[in-house]
Amino acid sequence: MAQNRRHFIQRTAAGLALLSASPMTFSRNLAEQSATYQSKPWIELSKEAYLHNAAQIGKMANGKPIVAVLKNNAYGVGEVPVAQFLDESPHVFGIAVVKDEAALAMREGGVKKPILLMGDFDDSFADELVNHNVTLSVHSRNALSKMNGISIDQKVKIALYLDTGLGRMGIPYQETFNIAQEIDKNPNLSIEQTFSTLTSPQDFAREQISRFEDIMDKLDQAGIASGLKHLAPSYSLLDLQNSHQQAVRPGILLHGSFPSSKMQMAEQYPLQVPYRLKAPVIRLEKLKAGDTIGFSRFYKVGQDEWIATLPVGWADGYDSGAENGALVLLGDQLFPVVNVNASHANIALGASTSIKIGDVATLIGPERPEITPEGFGKLINGHNYLQINYKESIPKHSYASF
Ligand SMILES: *Cc1c(COP(=O)(O)O)cnc(C)c1O
Repeated sequence: MAQNRRHFIQRTAAGLALLSASPMTFSRNLAEQSATYQSKPWIELSKEAYLHNAAQIGKMANGKPIVAVLKNNAYGVGEVPVAQFLDESPHVFGIAVVKDEAALAMREGGVKKPILLMGDFDDSFADELVNHNVTLSVHSRNALSKMNGISIDQKVKIALYLDTGLGRMGIPYQETFNIAQEIDKNPNLSIEQTFSTLTSPQDFAREQISRFEDIMDKLDQAGIASGLKHLAPSYSLLDLQNSHQQAVRPGILLHGSFPSSKMQMAEQYPLQVPYRLKAPVIRLEKLKAGDTIGFSRFYKVGQDEWIATLPVGWADGYDSGAENGALVLLGDQLFPVVNVNASHANIALGASTSIKIGDVATLIGPERPEITPEGFGKLINGHNYLQINYKESIPKHSYASF
């Protein structure tokens, strides 16, 4: 386990070296790098697009600072590079993650802003987390006893995590005041933030806000500092202005997607697609009318046609629903995805083609409305969030801009 983390951090450090190069060196490095990735899929990330999206979210929140949620490897696109980008944003107060290892990897990648660990931590990581200035969440009595047990000559920064009704994580709101009093008695613990998570239905979200605010008032009256207060994931940020509190806490909006298809506010707040998923053509064959593709013989070739194979499939996190209508960009044309297996996807190119082995397809990216995460979602009737769920094994290239 520890060895894995070492390995991961070493890879991250290599990524950082790439990032700190000047844009000129950068493209040369990238050209060299991409030569080594021609047989695998990869993800390209745009720092400028992430900074643009953070600035737009700042507008949505009327200037309130952002706690950027980069959990689950930043929804699959790469938590360390995205954290490095957002570390430069004046709109971002800090970063929130769920896994202890993610927080440490970001610190080793040079991220300076506050990092909030919303999830639990392994006891063996406790000292390292405190040494690296990671804010730990008191999400239960058990978590508090772990923090009381940290014997390190340094203040432990903590966040009070309240459950106001999501029912998943956090101290039940009715118990928060007592726990905060206990925390207040330990001079080693310092409450830096207090947060909870809102549900989507507006009526109940309002009830949650009032539960939260009642407790904040009680803490104020008792002279217990509660630090920076935040409640709102992307949905509530857009849906309920009084959810904004002192900071907002979006995830999906940073990646250029609105949290639900009913919430397209792209005209008011134009977001950019800040990443691309790409893969090279590794096989090209002209199949005959009547031939089929896939284990279930999912696609039947109607007339003789060229079929390209890309080395990316659902095991890499590419949505298998893509075979139900998604398109990919190859050259300057869009072609249909006709089959997705665990490690491969097939693209139908038609009766004649100028595409060659080694040509690179863009499966997701900003170039065409059909291949943006939202366009892709519409074509396959998919879930907004699950479209970006790429595996850590996919290499990441960072661009100064697209
Ligand atoms: C995932 C998550 C967020 C961000 O959610 P989005 O819908 O992606 O904006 C915020 N807060 C908590 C506690 C979360 O788990």
